[in-house]
Amino acid sequence: MAETPPRQRDRGPRATGPVVLLPPTRAGQEERRFAVRPARVLLLLAATFIAGSVAAALLLLPILEARRAGVAAERDELAHRYEVLAARLEQLESDAAAQHTPDEEPATPPTAQAPTSPALRLAPPTDVDGVRIAVLRATGDVTLKGEALIIVQSPTKAIPMPGGVLLARAGKNGVFVDGVGTVASGTRVENRLGPIKIGDKSYPGALELHQDGDRLLLINELDLEKYLLGVVGAEVPAGWPLEAKKAQAVVARTYALMQRAQAEGPYHLEATTDDQVYSGTAVDSATRAAVTSTHGEILLQDGLLVSAWFHSACGGRTEDPADVWPDRPAHGNAVVTCGFCDTSPYASWTVDLSPAEIARGLTEAGHEVTEVTGMHIREDTASERVRRLEIETDAGMVAVTGQEFREMVGYMRVKSASFSVGVVGATFRLTGKGFGHGVGMCQHGALGMDKAGHAYREILTHYYPRARVEKIY
Ligand SMILES: [Zn+2]
Repeated sequence: MAETPPRQRDRGPRATGPVVLLPPTRAGQEERRFAVRPARVLLLLAATFIAGSVAAALLLLPILEARRAGVAAERDELAHRYEVLAARLEQLESDAAAQHTPDEEPATPPTAQAPTSPALRLAPPTDVDGVRIAVLRATGDVTLKGEALIIVQSPTKAIPMPGGVLLARAGKNGVFVDGVGTVASGTRVENRLGPIKIGDKSYPGALELHQDGDRLLLINELDLEKYLLGVVGAEVPAGWPLEAKKAQAVVARTYALMQRAQAEGPYHLEATTDDQVYSGTAVDSATRAAVTSTHGEILLQDGLLVSAWFHSACGGRTEDPADVWPDRPAHGNAVVTCGFCDTSPYASWTVDLSPAEIARGLTEAGHEVTEVTGMHIREDTASERVRRLEIETDAGMVAVTGQEFREMVGYMRVKSASFSVGVVGATFRLTGKGFGHGVGMCQHGALGMDKAGHAYREILTHYYPRARVEKIY
C-alpha cells in the first residue's frame, strides 16, 4: 500500500458532484462547503466584476454626457465674451486715433528708425505743414507790428495789441511785453490780417517769444512753401534766371526737411548761413514762380532724403562731406567736376593775413599762440582743398584742416579751403578758388548751367548724380 501524505488523507474522499452550499449545521456538511473548486470561484468573481462594470457604465454615461454638454456651453460663453471684448478694443483704438490733432507728430514705427545713423536713414516726411525758424536773438527791445496783432493765450482767447504794436524784451522770469507784463517763454504772437513786421522784414505765420538766457529769441513758425519763398529770395539774387532758382528751391526744400527731421530744440533751422538764409517773405515774381512750380519736389536717393547741402561757388570741383564734417552722416552726395562756375566773382581770390591775425584766430580756438612764423600745406583732399595745414608758432606746430582754418580766421576772410600759401613781405598771402564749404550744389554753377540751357532737373542731377527729384505732396 502506497504512502499517502497525511494531510490529503485527513480530507477524506474528494468531492465529485456539483457544489452545494449547505447550512452549517453539522461538522460533516461544513467539511463539504470548503471543498468548492477555486476555478469556479474565480469565474464567479469575474462575472460579478463584468456585471458591475456594465452597471456602473450604464449609470455614469448620463452623467458624462451632462458634463460634456456643460463644457460645450462654457466654451460658447467664452467665445462670445472674447468677441465682445475684441469689438470694445477696436472701438477704443478708433476713438484714440480720432483724438490725435494734426499738430501731433505721428508715431514712428520701430522699423522706420535708423539702425545706426539716423541722418542716413531719413525717409521723406508724411506731414509737411510747417517749419520753425530762429529768426532773431536780441538783448534789447524788439518791436513787432501788424494790423491785427494778438498774443495768443488759447485757441479761443487772445490779447489784442493796441495800435498793432508789440514791444518785447527778455525779462528776469520770462519774456516781458510792454502793457501786458511777463508772459511765458514760447508765447505765440499772430497777425490775423497778414505777416508780422520787424523792421523792414515781414514774417508770415506766427512768431513765438522765447527766453534764451538773457536774450529774446524769436521763432517763426510758418508753412514750408512760404518759408522757401524767403530762402530762395535771400539765397539767390533776384536777377538770376528761373531754372537756377528752381534748382535752389528743390535743394532748400530738401535741406529744410532734413534739418527738421533731426532738430532737437524748439526750432528746426537758423535763418543764417549756419543753415540757409531766410529774411522773411520775398516778393519777386521769379522767386515765387520757382517755388510754386516745384511745389512739394525734393531730392531722394533710394527713397531717402538727400543731405542737400549747397554752397556759393566750388571753384572747379565739389567736396566730399566726409572731408568737411567727418562726424556728420551724409546721404546722396558726390564729388563732381563743376565746370560752370568759372565766371563767378569767387572763381579766384587772394587774401593777405598778418601773423598777428592768424595768432588771434588760433588763440580764440584755444591754442594760446602769440607768434606765427610759418604755414605749410601738407595734404590736400581729393577735390584739392587743404586737408592738413601746419602752422609754426611760438607754442610749437599746430595742425588744422583747411575748413578749421577758415573757421578760426573767418569764413569771409578765407573764402574756401581750396588755397595755396605764399609770403609777401611780413604777411601770408592765400590764393584760392571758390566760396563756401564746397559740398553739394554749387550755386554759381547752377547759374552757369541755366545760362548754358540746362533745366533745373539737369542741374540737380549734375550735383547729386544718384539722386532723383520726386514730388511728395
Ligand atoms: Zn562750381
